[in-house]
Amino acid sequence: MTVKVTARGAERWKQGHPWIYRSDVAEEPDKTPGIVAVTDRKGKFLGQALYSPKSEIRLRLLTRGKEPIDSTWWTERIAAAARRRNGIGASAWRVVHAEGDGLPSLIIDRYGPWIVVQLLSAGLETARDDVVAGITAALAPEGILLRNDAGVRRHEGLASEVVLAFGQVPEVVEVVEEGMKYLAAPWSGQKTGAFLDQRENRLLVGQHTRAGGHALDLFTYHGSFALHLARHAKDVLAVDQSTEALARGVENARLNAIGNIEWREANAFDLLRELERRREQFDTIALDPPAFAKTKASVERAVAGYKEVNLRAMKILAPGGMLFTSSCSYHVGRDIFSAMLADAARDSGRRIQFLAATGAASDHPELLNVPETGYLKGVLLRAVV
Ligand code: SAH
Repeated sequence: MTVKVTARGAERWKQGHPWIYRSDVAEEPDKTPGIVAVTDRKGKFLGQALYSPKSEIRLRLLTRGKEPIDSTWWTERIAAAARRRNGIGASAWRVVHAEGDGLPSLIIDRYGPWIVVQLLSAGLETARDDVVAGITAALAPEGILLRNDAGVRRHEGLASEVVLAFGQVPEVVEVVEEGMKYLAAPWSGQKTGAFLDQRENRLLVGQHTRAGGHALDLFTYHGSFALHLARHAKDVLAVDQSTEALARGVENARLNAIGNIEWREANAFDLLRELERRREQFDTIALDPPAFAKTKASVERAVAGYKEVNLRAMKILAPGGMLFTSSCSYHVGRDIFSAMLADAARDSGRRIQFLAATGAASDHPELLNVPETGYLKGVLLRAVV
């Protein structure tokens, strides 16, 4: 099948963005998902793309060439992405970051010998067998799990399912990250089983933790920041509202023979108010909330939420104390996030130094041409006085 696109659609591809929206599709003769040839209105060949007839994002560019897109094609692309990742000091990392690696809507994460995949478009779903064959050939895993239960599949008209595609994948996998162990849950955990995107930020926080001081990890989930804090701090208070998340945190601490973390089930907003009232102070704070802005419309409210937690965290920093703060809301861009932090700093009564801005770990590459590939922002701050 051939799909024709408008000049505006073609221009997007020229600028390195792989998506063409419904409004820029001129002719779509047969509304079945798959891999299609794409031309301009006059019939000039532009490339081959994943086609999603039910999605606003109709086309995702795979190649500008005419080569067959078979299992060998996927093998080569996946192997090339894998080669770009080296020197990662962990047993779990992202092998393919979708658009960021030129493979739109395909996520491939490695957990030791096991692979967890997300197929996030209707076009890609039709290539499932070839993709699985490509992964097998390129990565030689012991098992491949399809975590096809991500919410975005709804926009594609796809079912929500978790399917074993090859071999075996355990319920729980032990990950080693720069000498720290934690358990990931490929079948049921957040994303593909863990927050791999914060790996480098966790190490950064570890490096900046005040030795022998008090540390606080807000929104700790399975305690992955808390573990790195606990290595250096005297004690760590790790906070989450989820009982199950904290139970996993306790297991992770035990796995590393770490005994200086107190796990507290609480609403972070309430607890921050209480800590402030009690004039408690912390030398190092990690603040990694869930995405407060899920849509464009909720940005204003989200920013108010981010400001509240950041302002209160700044207030309870000990003199010279460090705050690592992050946001994974795509709709809250770097500029909005920075402006919010400046606003909080002004209100905090503290003098706050900006030490570093970070993003997702390097195995989650951001493409400048595709802003959607960047969502995680981190900032390291210090309260001078
Ligand atoms: N820092 C973690 C990821 C955090 S995910 C890591 O690097 O692995 C977000 C966590 O925030 C979830 O565990 C969720 O249970 C928790 N959460 C959401 N809202 C909360 C609130 N108001 N108070 C405390 N925890 C909250």
